[in-house]
Amino acid sequence: MTRVSIDVKITEIRVYPVEIPYKKPFKIATATYLSQPFIYVEVKTDSGITGFGEACPAYEFTGETMGTVTAIIKERLEKCLIGLDPFNIDEAVRLMDRATVGNPSAKAAIEMALYDIVGKATGEPVCKIIGGMTRNVIPEVGGAVIADVREVLEKVKRDVDRGLKILKIKVGEDPYKDAEKIKLIREAVGWGVKIRADANQGWIKPKRAIKAIRLMEKYELELVEQPIVWWDLDGLSEIRRAVDTPIMLDESVHSSRDALRAIEKRACDIINIKLMKSGGIYNALRINAIAEVAGIPTYMGGMGETSIGHAAAIHIFAALGNMVFGDIRIPGADWGILEDPGVGLEETMINGVLHIKVPEKPGLGVELRKDIVEKYLNRQLFEVYK
Ligand SMILES: [Mg+2]
Repeated sequence: MTRVSIDVKITEIRVYPVEIPYKKPFKIATATYLSQPFIYVEVKTDSGITGFGEACPAYEFTGETMGTVTAIIKERLEKCLIGLDPFNIDEAVRLMDRATVGNPSAKAAIEMALYDIVGKATGEPVCKIIGGMTRNVIPEVGGAVIADVREVLEKVKRDVDRGLKILKIKVGEDPYKDAEKIKLIREAVGWGVKIRADANQGWIKPKRAIKAIRLMEKYELELVEQPIVWWDLDGLSEIRRAVDTPIMLDESVHSSRDALRAIEKRACDIINIKLMKSGGIYNALRINAIAEVAGIPTYMGGMGETSIGHAAAIHIFAALGNMVFGDIRIPGADWGILEDPGVGLEETMINGVLHIKVPEKPGLGVELRKDIVEKYLNRQLFEVYK
């Protein structure tokens, strides 16, 4: 067989920092966002193939903002990758980690653009490069952030009517208030809908979390996410032993080392993997591998990425058999952001359940709309770092 030689080198990385308002404030136990920053990257190569990526920084998770991501990419990460073959992802991840500690969203944006290039150069969708297409459709998830209970009930009923049969509900306030909310949601949507509760560390201490989860268990939760502070793995292990509902870790697990430690401490039943915490697809695959060998399923989460970053998450979910849960939805639907600068994701209704199709075009299979980027561009930052 003749080997097709693909000779590609990275020549430039461009950044486009934008800020898009939410239709409704995005409120969780630890933060409130009125708008969401996104940093799009365009990785150029000498072959004419260009890859796109997205950072969706969440300061309450990684300490990153629009300014830090933009600056780190241009001041530290771009120069260590110029001249590199974008197929050398392992090396790219090492070079970026050597160039600067932390800053996972900035690294994820560049790294998903490298996978986009590899896919475009080989003519394959990213999922086929990282494991294959285990599934070609993924059920969408609805739910509600912290808001007035009446509004939350209206929202979840609307979601279920649209075909969303999995709901993720933000909790982490007073245990009795949280349990009452879950009770009202269960009564409103019936038993055929899966309900997940995310406390975002809000119950703080194990005793309070155990109380809250026990109050909610009769309403049948599929899982409870991050009940207490991220660093208290012993406390999380205690909660896990005290309740029947599976406990998923999000804020506690960013890297593969965090995953190893959480598993050693027996602190989780499920691990929520997010590209903006792991620093990209390659490290997400590592976390999944560590979890799988320990018998722990994984969950594909997100920080509210638009279609570019969300497509990267969809490809991971599509590829991995051990990833059995996820948080996949069309960006900008209902309470989301005003406009999505990414295009290419498509929905399909299967037996009354709304699904997203896994993109089958080469690379991430989505495109960036420059007109929308232009509309929400932070010109001041763009001028400094272009
Ligand atoms: Mg979470």
